[in-house]
Amino acid sequence: MRAIIMHAPGDVRVEDRDRPTIQRPTDAVIRVAAACVCGSDLWPYRGADKVSRPSPMGHEYVGTVEEVGDDVKNVRPGQFVVGSFFASDNTCEICRAGYQSGCVHRQGVGGAQAEYLRVPLADGTLVATPETPDAGLVPSLLTASDVLGTGWFAAKAAEVGPGKTVAVVGDGAVGLLG
Ligand SMILES: [Zn+2]
Repeated sequence: MRAIIMHAPGDVRVEDRDRPTIQRPTDAVIRVAAACVCGSDLWPYRGADKVSRPSPMGHEYVGTVEEVGDDVKNVRPGQFVVGSFFASDNTCEICRAGYQSGCVHRQGVGGAQAEYLRVPLADGTLVATPETPDAGLVPSLLTASDVLGTGWFAAKAAEVGPGKTVAVVGDGAVGLLG
């Protein structure tokens, strides 16, 4: 499959890589419909973060489930899903309190800028849409993969509510969605 790999600041290549497979019974493999570039992808691109080895890029993604491991119950092949940039079980105490990005079993998801992606902890990490969306809706759903959740988390953590005056520091997609 084709995948995007960052080799060094400013050096991003499209390469052929092995298609991911199910490695643990809680995994899913999805065919990526859309992925995007996060602001945090730009830190290493600009040289602000070190690139110590060739790194598959991308952690914001939507797509169609191709295959699931034996323990996956909440999503099935053929469903369109929105995924999170942190894989979480959605069952531990921290997840149940609403802080899935702090899950005790959390794993970073990487390599979404590719044709296929392995998603760990699929039951807690992927959310299926009621039906396969029209192509025009896909970019909007993609915002739910990272920036919407991050903005929502910021607003919730700041205890924003009706009647309160708040300052949003940061005018990117996360700030707008916050
Ligand atoms: Zn958890």
